[in-house]
Amino acid sequence: MEIVVATRNRKKLEEIRRILEGLPVKLFTVEDFPGCPEVEESEDTFEGNALKKAQAVAAFTGRTAIADDSGLEVYALNGAPGVYSARYAGEKASDRENLEKLLREMSSVPDDQRGARFVCVIALAFPDGTVKTFHGHVEGRIGRTPLGSSGFGYDPVFYPEGHERTFAQMSSEEKDSMSHRGRAIEKLREYLIRHGST
Ligand code: IMP
Repeated sequence: MEIVVATRNRKKLEEIRRILEGLPVKLFTVEDFPGCPEVEESEDTFEGNALKKAQAVAAFTGRTAIADDSGLEVYALNGAPGVYSARYAGEKASDRENLEKLLREMSSVPDDQRGARFVCVIALAFPDGTVKTFHGHVEGRIGRTPLGSSGFGYDPVFYPEGHERTFAQMSSEEKDSMSHRGRAIEKLREYLIRHGST
């Protein structure tokens, strides 16, 4: 089976490749299809954005496509930044600016109310228009100081449940084994195995 991954993000692509290794799947990226449209993440749910991207790429390429959307939901902030995680501090905000805004917004939130979760939805879209989605999440809490240098985004302030280290203090293998994205891709893998990926 040939699948086009609707991302230009190298890290996401490598992670998807690693987890799908061993399956009879040949992965392409949107860069293999010049002119493939950039899809704006304009929906108000992770699922809506992932579906919109996967469907647009499947329609353009005529092949099966996968896309993901992910973000951080903080309970004390009523689920913010949510689908706006990448642009929390502004349209062109850096990871650092987003993280600093989060720490500012949470400066008066007590330690026992700093719960949060990362969410990821992967959408699989077939050229005939049918779709399927896979959800993954990881519960944790938000620290007060950024720690660690691996990963990206909010990793330096996110402590997954049961751990005293942030995602940014873990190796990528350790993070993948419990992350929202790792879990969603694992479900996609199981689906492809069950439904025959040839
Ligand atoms: P998108 O899925 O590429 O739209 O990314 C959404 C945003 O959510 C990213 O820019 C990060 O700010 C945040 N995010 C999603 N997944 C992670 C993660 O694994 N670690 C840290 N931040 C993440």
